[in-house]
Amino acid sequence: MKPADLQRQFFEMLMESQYWSPAALIDYQRSQLAQLLRHARKHVPFYERRLDPVFTATGDIDWDRWHEIPIVTRADMADHREAMLARELPPGHGATGTVETSGSTGRPIRITTNRLTAIAANANRWRAHRTYELDWSRTYTARDGYAVAAEWPHGQPLGPWGPGWDAHGARGTSYRISRATGVEQMLEFIERTDSAYLSTGPKILHVYALEAERLGLEVRLACVLTHGEGANAADRAAVKRVFGAAMMETYSSKEAGQIGYPCRLGHGLHVNAESVFVEIVDEQGRAVGPGQSGRIVVTPFVSTAQPLIRYAQGDLARAGGSCLCGRSLPMIGAVEGRTTAIFVHPDGRSVSRMLNESGRDLLRCTFWQIAQVGPLDFELRYVPSDWDAPGDEAAAEALFRSTFFPDSRLRFCRVREIPLTPGGKFLEYVNEWATGR
Ligand SMILES: [Zn+2]
Repeated sequence: MKPADLQRQFFEMLMESQYWSPAALIDYQRSQLAQLLRHARKHVPFYERRLDPVFTATGDIDWDRWHEIPIVTRADMADHREAMLARELPPGHGATGTVETSGSTGRPIRITTNRLTAIAANANRWRAHRTYELDWSRTYTARDGYAVAAEWPHGQPLGPWGPGWDAHGARGTSYRISRATGVEQMLEFIERTDSAYLSTGPKILHVYALEAERLGLEVRLACVLTHGEGANAADRAAVKRVFGAAMMETYSSKEAGQIGYPCRLGHGLHVNAESVFVEIVDEQGRAVGPGQSGRIVVTPFVSTAQPLIRYAQGDLARAGGSCLCGRSLPMIGAVEGRTTAIFVHPDGRSVSRMLNESGRDLLRCTFWQIAQVGPLDFELRYVPSDWDAPGDEAAAEALFRSTFFPDSRLRFCRVREIPLTPGGKFLEYVNEWATGR
């Protein structure tokens, strides 16, 4: 089958399969997993023995023992990269490419992908667009990378962004714009290109919104698309108030592709369950119940060049229940953070928790950044909403101590803005002490 036909067929299946019965969905997932497991066991040295718990003497798969498959860690990805590559691919899975992910902490890892991973990612993206009634004939701008070709004022025109077979999809326009673009330039670009959609991080969107408001600019967007940073209620409210735009915060990773998209009823994320098996597990690797938190473990079905079977990609999430919207796709209640430690105490303790959002109200601030700057020294930098009406730093400090280390020293710094990282990211938690050593 030609790639374009396969692309269309998979997308059309997704538009129906989201309403399949839960039993039909599980059957589909198991047929996909079975192919992946057999392929990995036969062609990928890393998985030669690892999957033994689920294979019976006759070569069938015992799904009741799934949780006995050891979880793959980010360290495994770095240490066993060669052994994780498939010696051969199933027919039609296509050429491979390599992507690298650094994460904000930890060692960079490389992942080998194949053509089908791109087909799955496109189809899942388009399904999310349809759920949010995005109009593919309008203009879409993505703030992405630092390519010279994508610099302001022209940006990099990338043509249609919807499906090629769709009449609306064929008429649309998209641009990539460099992360180096300033705030006012970006607002001007949105206006001039008549962009209806903008894709970038939620904190940056919040910054744009406040700046448009300050300058008295009338800039409208239909929807903003974000991923990877964790939008809070204040980010959403600012985007709605200033741009009149809804926010669609999807969940994805370079390793597993498009993992989920938010239900419009607002109870969490629907998992793209036709493309990836998602588990939220406890310390023993067993699935937690709805409402409980655990590590996210993913198994993307079409990653055959470098199979990831039960891979903990380093995120924490709350398991969701079923949804009232009619879709049977399983739910992630919320992605709650990273499992990697942010702050470390000289005695060896570490924490990956985040400060409760109520701290923002105590400080009356729009943005904050919490930095470890010494063994026991921390800075909380924040941008006051109103410089004449200071917040309650003492109460915020008490919250800080109860969240992190009671014997640490905390200094408050009121700032005009939080600078972006050299990679153009907005980080709320940084360890300047550990990285500076
Ligand atoms: Zn739903």
